[in-house]
Amino acid sequence: MNPLTSQSNLGAIDAAHHLHPFSDMKQLNEKGTRIIARGEGVYIFDAQGRRYLDGFAGLWCVNIGYGRKEIAEAVQRQMNELPYYNTFFGTTTPPTTLLAQKITAHTGGRLNHAFFTNSGSEATDTWFRMARVYWKALGHPTKTHVIARRNGYHGSTVAGASLGGMKHMHEQGNLPIEGISHIGQPYWYAEGGDLTPDAFGRKMARELEAKIDELGEENVAAFVAEPIQGAGGVIVPPATYWPEIARICKARNILLVADEVICGFGRLGTWFGHQHFGFEPDLAPVAKGLSSGYLPIGAVLVSDRVAKVMIEEAGDFNHGYTYSGHPVCAAAALENLRIIEEEGLVDRVRTDIGPYFAAALKSLEDHPVVGQVDTVGLIAGVQLAADKGTRRRFAKPDDAGMNVRNHCLENGLVMRATGDRMLASPALIISRSEVDQMVETLRKGLDHLRDTMTE
Ligand SMILES: *Cc1c(COP(=O)(O)O)cnc(C)c1O
Repeated sequence: MNPLTSQSNLGAIDAAHHLHPFSDMKQLNEKGTRIIARGEGVYIFDAQGRRYLDGFAGLWCVNIGYGRKEIAEAVQRQMNELPYYNTFFGTTTPPTTLLAQKITAHTGGRLNHAFFTNSGSEATDTWFRMARVYWKALGHPTKTHVIARRNGYHGSTVAGASLGGMKHMHEQGNLPIEGISHIGQPYWYAEGGDLTPDAFGRKMARELEAKIDELGEENVAAFVAEPIQGAGGVIVPPATYWPEIARICKARNILLVADEVICGFGRLGTWFGHQHFGFEPDLAPVAKGLSSGYLPIGAVLVSDRVAKVMIEEAGDFNHGYTYSGHPVCAAAALENLRIIEEEGLVDRVRTDIGPYFAAALKSLEDHPVVGQVDTVGLIAGVQLAADKGTRRRFAKPDDAGMNVRNHCLENGLVMRATGDRMLASPALIISRSEVDQMVETLRKGLDHLRDTMTE
């Protein structure tokens, strides 16, 4: 038995010493934390040995599932050979260089360079600076402004939280920083009114055009968005949205940044989310599924257009992290990508388990408290509704979501609720019977909402 997990008073120690992210600590300490001790496949086990189906792959990241010994072995090999060296000052390590080759190989030859970070947030800070350096090197020093979206998520650093469109994050720490503006999100169910989804998608994309006009094209460096908003509630944009966004970025000569931190590495049934939607970003931050969360690592994937300027015109890029391209994290990521390739997980999501997952979840659309189910690949957002005919939502959307989420948890299923949307993002290795089990437990959670909350 692992001596770290067999310690008996972990709950008390945690309450005494550990401040958790995105948590009300007073409430958490009263309730106690759940201590997760072990994982296998799509399941996690708490310290009491209770099993949960993890419908969320940790935090959208454990794409290959838990307990893969190959990763542990690759990490141990690298750890014994070279536990650390940096990539500053003209050096690299073998796994780091090979990882840059392997990731970029899956971008269809368009994003041929990688700059390594330790997280998605750091990848956000990295491209944010890189975009400005790019325009300055091209003789456009005023092109600095970045446009992002309400209810987007790009991490929790100062730049990440500023670019994100989360009001509750902006309220803490006087954010956003200068030089960032937000436009609306393509969330048809909540904000589409009488428009068709397609008309609404075009309308929301054109907010970008209006914002560029307002700021002046000569002052705008880039637009950033997630192909599908994750933390914002798995908001799948109407089909008209991305083509229009891509057209506007091209016409107005601003960089298009696709935040691929969730959509990357197979989640949508393509290697990257932009491939699913058929657009071509200039920069793409990645993290999460890059190592399936086994060790922290992220990167910014850089198109030839930007890389050429960074290499030939920009001189020193005065930016980097002590652990940029950490060899052990890179070895874990390499092995993770090898597994995704060898097991054909991306194709499996697109042609087999993704369609099965979609059909199983769509079956919930007959439920009285479900307004709409959106899925792409293995990501889903289930919209709760008080009256599905009129798209009327529950008066207390957060309570509705938590009602279902807590019932699922009590019945051995980890789901996430963002407001009144139930989110799922399971490991790409989930089986059909595990999907069935997930949907069955979720249906019971929806029954519970129906029976306990009417408005
Ligand atoms: C999680 C996430 C990030 C931030 O990544 P961290 O590794 O938590 O810093 C950025 N963008 C998106 C879309 C994310 O989901």
